[in-house]
Amino acid sequence: MNRVCGVQKACRRRARERDVLVLPYSDQVICERDGWVCQLCRGPVDPRLPRTHRDGATIDHIVPISLGGADAPGNVQLAHMGCNASKGARFTADVVGVRSGVRVVAP
Ligand SMILES: [Zn+2]
Repeated sequence: MNRVCGVQKACRRRARERDVLVLPYSDQVICERDGWVCQLCRGPVDPRLPRTHRDGATIDHIVPISLGGADAPGNVQLAHMGCNASKGARFTADVVGVRSGVRVVAP
């Protein structure tokens, strides 16, 4: 029934391990709240595409759980698989760089 639940379950487990805020939400509700529009590129997301497709629907954590972000509706948004993957690495590098004061991305 829930096509992105595999991602969510992995996130839940990470969230529990890291003791961050976890609030229940349904991927379907997040997708509908965001109007099936990718919150990273503002392009439409096709609900029929599999999650493994680069234009498929994924739940993106605005602040990654690995950096203490909550697994909660206020910290998640709908994103294309491809957008999520490319944004995730960039955002993480930026935040880690800011927090530690160390440049983590090579010039
Ligand atoms: Zn997108």
